[in-house]
Formats: sequence, structure tokens, C-alpha cells
Amino acid sequence: MSLVPTFATPSGFLGLPPGGGGRGIAIAGIPLDLGTTNRAGAREGPAAIRRASRMLVDGAHPATQVDFRNLPLCDVGDFAIALGDLAGSLAQIEAQAAQQEHLVALGGEHGISLPLLRALARRVGGPLALVHFDAHLDTWPESFGQRFSHGQPFYHAIEEGLVDPKRMVQIGIRSPVEPEIMAWTLAQGVTVLSAIDVHETSPAAVAARIAEIVGAAPAYLSFDIDALDPAFAPGTGTPEIGGLATWQAQAILRRLGGLDWRGMDVVEVAPAYDVAEITALAAATLAWEYICRAG
Ligand code: MN
Ligand code: MN
Repeated sequence: MSLVPTFATPSGFLGLPPGGGGRGIAIAGIPLDLGTTNRAGAREGPAAIRRASRMLVDGAHPATQVDFRNLPLCDVGDFAIALGDLAGSLAQIEAQAAQQEHLVALGGEHGISLPLLRALARRVGGPLALVHFDAHLDTWPESFGQRFSHGQPFYHAIEEGLVDPKRMVQIGIRSPVEPEIMAWTLAQGVTVLSAIDVHETSPAAVAARIAEIVGAAPAYLSFDIDALDPAFAPGTGTPEIGGLATWQAQAILRRLGGLDWRGMDVVEVAPAYDVAEITALAAATLAWEYICRAG
């Protein structure tokens, strides 16, 4: 039992020494929000998620009995970015991600998933299966005339062959969307499960569908916090009502521990719009769920 009270936990994720290194899973903050199309502020996400993670430091996961303190795990600090330079930042993120064997990235906006997937697909040597929680498809070929923003990562990931769209599933989708964007996404072979699909079935049914789509392929988890309802995650740039409850996300993820996970990100936490740190706590807990998954 630690003698340090929870509120005095060191400032790395889960109280890990900040800026440390080591084997196993590396936690990294990526404080980028240059590509946000509505409310900015996700650059403050990593610090808020680390702060909220102190609620998780004093015991084993109640369902899996995995205690992160027994795992090889380190917080490598925040990735460097190129101030004011989106393309330069994406290149820098890719180069830094390539140094890590298994990365859990704390965003930052969703555009960071593209360089993370570029680095990981190269490491794996082929396309990844993708489990993508979001209110938004993020498969727009452009946003407001720009080829790169937080609305494009999975358009490029599909076009570049970083993910296998037939092993790609999006969960929680519910934003306004042009019919041709939805049609293009479905035509690639992507499975889209709307928020209503989650609400009107069950976490067990959703998890079974995800597992069926992903199969034994090496898999990546990308969790846009706006997949959650604004009641559970108000601190984000593009909120959409009717989203998942935090318990639904947990109940789905806890059934997916057996997939061949190779990395994850949790993105779009914008603390300036948060209330009582609930969004940051949700993000921290989802990353902890991934780390403490049952094998
Ligand atoms: Mn997104
Ligand atoms: Mn989103």
C-alpha cells in the first residue's frame, strides 16, 4: 500500500515517473489541436488526462484483476510538435511514434491517429484492424478545403492502406454527415455501428460484432471521447447528443481483451469545456481499461 495519498500522486499517467522510459507499453501525450474544426483546446488534453488518472492508482482492475503496477509500463512524456505547423507536427509525431513498440497515446485531436497508424502499420508490416469509437466518421477527404484535420485521419488511413477497411468498425456514429461520405465509407467495407445501434442492442452484442469483424488481425483502438454523450464527456470540441454512456464503453471494451491489440489512442479531450474533470476521468479510465485488459 502506498503511503502517498491519491491527491499527491506524481504527475505522470497513473503516477508513473513523468518523462521516464522502459519496456512494454509507453504512454505519450500528444498536445496537438491545430486541425480542430470547431472548438480548439485538445492540446491541454494530455495534462488533464494524466491528472485525472490519479483516481486509478490504488488497486487492481476490479474485473480483470490486472494491477498496472505489475506491468511493464512507462510515461515517456509529451511528444514534440511543430508549433503552428500541422504538416510538420504530423511528421514529427510519426517519427516519435516509430520509436515505441506499443504506444498508448493521450490526445490531442483526432488527426494524430494518422501518423500513429503510419508508424504502426510500418512496424506491423501490413494493414491493421481498426476499432474506432466516435460520434463522427472521420473519413472526409477534406474539411473546409484542407486535406488534413481531425476529420480526415481514417480517409487517409484507408487510402494509404494503413488499415483494412473490411476489418474496421466504427461505434457511436451519430453526427450530421453528407450521404456521399457515408456511402464512400460503407463502400470501402467499413462497418458502422451508430449510437442507436449500441443503445438498442447490448454491449455484449456490440462486442461480439466487433470481435467478428476484427478476427485475429493485429488491431488498433482509437477512442474519440465524443463517442460518449456530452452528459459524460462535455469537455470536447465537437459534442453530439445521444452518445454512449461511459458504462457502455467499458462494458464493450472489457469483452475485447482477447483481440491482438497493438496500440491505442484516446483523443479530443478539451479540458476548457469540461465539468468537474469528468471527461478527463473518462479518457484516463478508458486508457486504463486498455492497459489492464484481460488477455
Ligand atoms: Mn474523431
Ligand atoms: Mn468525433
